[in-house]
Amino acid sequence: MAIRDIVSIPAPVLKKKARKVTDFGTELQHLIDDMIETMRVAPGVGLAAPQVDVPLRVIVVEYGDDEDENVPPKLYTLVNPEITRVSDEVEVGTEGCLSIPGFVGDVERALAITVKGQNRRGQPIRIKANGWLARIFQHELDHLDGVLFTDRTDKVWKLEGEASQVSPAD
Ligand code: ZN
Repeated sequence: MAIRDIVSIPAPVLKKKARKVTDFGTELQHLIDDMIETMRVAPGVGLAAPQVDVPLRVIVVEYGDDEDENVPPKLYTLVNPEITRVSDEVEVGTEGCLSIPGFVGDVERALAITVKGQNRRGQPIRIKANGWLARIFQHELDHLDGVLFTDRTDKVWKLEGEASQVSPAD
């Protein structure tokens, strides 16, 4: 495994629609392993392939339960993900992004979603997510369509100092 460079704005790859994955071979396996390591080292709770300069529809997410800190974070790898259901209920939350260092913003997202896609071996999977986990998935899926959180809100501000940790950075 290797840590890859995370690209930041205004890299063109971040504004492009990523391609569907059709080959689940070694190259994809290396990409996914590298994305997991890169996300952990950053550290972040999610990473989309365009953020490591690969325009493919792949995301990794690692996040624990909102309420219970004793539950270890769970790792999700999703290839060709699609949101199949969104709740009517929405919630505003403060998001950051590893590709927009030093800035956060208030973004409205669906409170609950269902995502379907494939795992790293190409088998179908479906995930139901609520709260922050649902937010992370929506943020990462946006990356696959070239959409950044700053495209979804006008309420963006600069963090004071690098040590600030007001929200999960993904
Ligand atoms: Zn992001």
